[in-house]
Amino acid sequence: RYDVLIVGAGHAGAQAAIALRQHKFAGSIGLLGDEPELPYERPPLSKEYLAGDKPFERLLIRNAAFWDERQVALLPGRSVTRVDSVNHDVTTADGETIGYGTLIWATGGKPRRLACIGGDLAGIHTVRTRADVDAMIAELPDVRHVAVIGGGYIGLEAAAVLAKLGREVTVLEAQDRVLARVAGEPLSRFFETEHRAHGVEIRLGVTVEAIEGSGRVTGVRLTGGETVPAEMAIVGIGIEPAVAPLLDAGANGGNGVLVDAQCRASLPDIFAVGDCALHANRFAEDRCIRLESVQNANDQATVAAKTILGIEAAYDSVPWFWSNQYDLKLQTIGISSGHEATVLRGDPASRSFSLLYLRASRVIALDCVNATRDYVQGRKLVLEAAAIDPARLADSLTPLKDLAA
Ligand code: FAD
Repeated sequence: RYDVLIVGAGHAGAQAAIALRQHKFAGSIGLLGDEPELPYERPPLSKEYLAGDKPFERLLIRNAAFWDERQVALLPGRSVTRVDSVNHDVTTADGETIGYGTLIWATGGKPRRLACIGGDLAGIHTVRTRADVDAMIAELPDVRHVAVIGGGYIGLEAAAVLAKLGREVTVLEAQDRVLARVAGEPLSRFFETEHRAHGVEIRLGVTVEAIEGSGRVTGVRLTGGETVPAEMAIVGIGIEPAVAPLLDAGANGGNGVLVDAQCRASLPDIFAVGDCALHANRFAEDRCIRLESVQNANDQATVAAKTILGIEAAYDSVPWFWSNQYDLKLQTIGISSGHEATVLRGDPASRSFSLLYLRASRVIALDCVNATRDYVQGRKLVLEAAAIDPARLADSLTPLKDLAA
């Protein structure tokens, strides 16, 4: 039995343990996860780690000595399949039962898989864990053509790395532009142009009918009959939050575990944080959303830890995110979905610009490409939901800080 048992040893789980000790929690902490490694950072998986530019050791959130010194019991290689909120215990796939005083559910999500024929052939990969990426790296020497299914951030980052590694990459996107779910059209078009300039083929408005191959993938067949050659396919079509055991136990939710501003789930002594937590977010018009970002994982974990310690806290952070592709550093602040208008600040052709998103004439988000100053200064505009003349926002000679109230 642990006073606090954390299920899921990723960003949110690790930060919950760190924050508990930082704020002087004296009870026992168990940090349980289904991966074999010490908690590590996921963003480099589709960036520097896939590229071979960063060894795994540099991805660790903390080293082994840190967890040891803070008396956080690491329980790797265990998958929780059942939660009993009445008895206050969890059961793992191996039949082990572990009791808790308080449970923090920090399980993130599992990648969606292709449902089509051939969707389970060898050579088809998702990018969520170190094991996923190690498997890709091991196959790469025998791979010339890569099909990336899904033009979201992870797919595009992997495409950029693999193109740099000399592979012939085709991105297959069902929508009429990449990043359609998360960004405005000018940003999508900019990234499409960049990828094409780096030799990546971008195919828009195409749907995957089947994966071809016997045993191993040889190509991706599109609706209409065309086959895109590929010895490797990377599937980047989003995640399903890993919440079944908690929902089965009676927690409210659906696409995630529903939590309040303190990250409490609807069951006693249970919190949920990170990618799996469905929460009302004021930067999304108070809609209930899940955020898949390091910022959200860390900040929610900190709120849960403080709440457990009786320290007043409420989750109210400005969302931020980043993505690296080629030499482009995209930094996002706010949540752009639901925007009614966009303002371009700077010229995409210069490869340094920002896209501002407005709703009801107020700034709700910025996507900044190689424009860290706008990213830093734009934060205040998002926090204040500033109403500013679009012509002034577009004038890149006026610093955004001069526009804030
Ligand atoms: P995770 O980090 O996924 O941790 C959850 C852990 O719980 C995992 O180890 C999982 O295997 C485990 N688990 C699941 N179910 C169970 C169970 N039943 N029992 C035990 N363990 C379980 N965010 C950014 O802000 N910027 C980026 O540039 C960025 N790039 C990314 C690139 C990639 C390739 C990926 C995959 C993600 C990226 N993200 C990025 C998102 C970010 O990594 C996630 O938002 C963050 O990891 C969420 O933390 P989490 O703790 O909620 O989930």
